[in-house]
Amino acid sequence: MGLNIERFKQIVSEKYFLEEMDALVPYIRDAGWWEGDKPDAVVRPGSAKEVSEIIRAANEDRIPITIRGAGSSYTGGALCYGGGLLLELTRLDGLIELDEESNSVTVQPGMSWAKMNCKLRGMGFHTGFRGPGSGITATIGGAASVSSIWWGAAKYGTVGDQILGFQVVLPKGEIIRTGSGANPYARNFCRYGLGPDLSGLFIGDHGVFGVKTEVVMRAYPLPEYVDFFEYGFPSEVDAVSALEEIARRNSFASDIIFLEEEYTSYAAPRYPNWDGSKAIVAGDIEADNRAWGEVQRAVFDDIVRRRGGRILEPSYSKYLYDNMFNVFFWGRRDNGLLMGACNQVPIRGILRTIRSQREYIERNPDLFKRHFNYRGMFSFIVRGHMNTIPTLYLPWNLDAEPSAKEVAHRIWSDSVSRWIECGGVHYWIGKLIGEILYSKIPKEYHRILSELKKALDPNRVLNPALWDLWGY
Ligand SMILES: Cc1cc2nc3c(=O)[nH]c(=O)nc-3n(C[C@H](O)[C@H](O)[C@H](O)COP(=O)(O)OP(=O)(O)OC[C@H]3O[C@@H](n4cnc5c(N)ncnc54)[C@H](O)[C@@H]3O)c2cc1C
Repeated sequence: MGLNIERFKQIVSEKYFLEEMDALVPYIRDAGWWEGDKPDAVVRPGSAKEVSEIIRAANEDRIPITIRGAGSSYTGGALCYGGGLLLELTRLDGLIELDEESNSVTVQPGMSWAKMNCKLRGMGFHTGFRGPGSGITATIGGAASVSSIWWGAAKYGTVGDQILGFQVVLPKGEIIRTGSGANPYARNFCRYGLGPDLSGLFIGDHGVFGVKTEVVMRAYPLPEYVDFFEYGFPSEVDAVSALEEIARRNSFASDIIFLEEEYTSYAAPRYPNWDGSKAIVAGDIEADNRAWGEVQRAVFDDIVRRRGGRILEPSYSKYLYDNMFNVFFWGRRDNGLLMGACNQVPIRGILRTIRSQREYIERNPDLFKRHFNYRGMFSFIVRGHMNTIPTLYLPWNLDAEPSAKEVAHRIWSDSVSRWIECGGVHYWIGKLIGEILYSKIPKEYHRILSELKKALDPNRVLNPALWDLWGY
């Protein structure tokens, strides 16, 4: 059935229903190189009730809905395919409650990380994990939907590790709560209980199973002491061995970055203090007081010395801490559009990924040079494991040339397959990585997702283009 424009306008009001061509065009792209189709219209709801009414109406008329936060992802998960409605959540951008009894904060999903961090800081709190590198615009609902990782990950893990519960509108329009908050008599203080963990179904689901309309996260008091460390190593192997021991100590370091040889030599001209180092480990320690922080720092220094590492004057680590939401934008300005595919590996496993990447480039040197600016692997610790970003940039001058883009896309797709085969686990998989991933892992796993999707979303309404869930 066609789009009943008047019905949707009534739900959100004319002001928040966009149908003019000029208003729709920006929604064709996300932050990556891939393009979707123009939506038939964009709806911008102002409450969970409106989201529910939109979804119920879409079910009646079998209208596909694509969910979008800030649209800052790279892999096409927030793009429309074949038209339909685009449900844009950035009007839902309030901080609902800081609850000091349950140590939690409840926010609406369209709030940006930068805005939430500023508000919470003013109240003396933070959420541990404090957002992806795109956090100036990226929304909390978007990050929860792709299991984002970055600021604070060494100590606190991924955004999912901070989540205590959601309010979610399901694909047929019912509104539910997950976590302890599902008990109407209880506060949002724990994730597990009341049977299986239903919050987990919506973390990293890319909106396939529901629309998040509230996100509850842990809240921590601001640290009273912050210190920085920076170490130079004679080899990547020594650096990785030190990182393994550091991570095993379950440290206070909130951020620990690892730069392998290529990335180190790319960034070295800006950091004379690195002087001949082949690999860099840098980061920050946030502690409740100076004494705790200094003890932690001494433990790290000792681990590093035993691996032949040098203690450097912190410079890069301070820059990172002050620019958590800027670091990746600078990379784009200098090199082009990132065709990355962040993935997680065990700490030692990073050496396998680096080796595989080098061998691939050695086998295809001309192809690689012609299509990419490659700067190496930028990696960081996520509690006990590693997240790595292969920095494969599509030079800006190629952006205008469709055939070059096609070749680059093919090489990127091959690379994603290879990273998966190296044991890499992707998280912002969107449409593009989703298609590769589900062709490579056991069918039974994909089939369970498909059966869940069909049970929850029989009319194929929410993000129906993702992950080929109707192939069975
Ligand atoms: C410069 C740059 C740096 C980046 N750095 C990082 C990084 O450090 N770590 C990282 O993890 N990612 C990073 N990203 C990727 C991306 O920005 C993040 O993953 C971000 O969390 C996506 O949030 P968003 O609001 O833009 O979501 P969108 O791109 O709008 O949506 C992402 C997915 O979530 C779904 N979705 C969005 N909101 C909801 C909701 N409320 N309910 C249900 N489904 C929803 C969408 O349908 C889509 O499938 C970066 C991107 C850029 C451009």
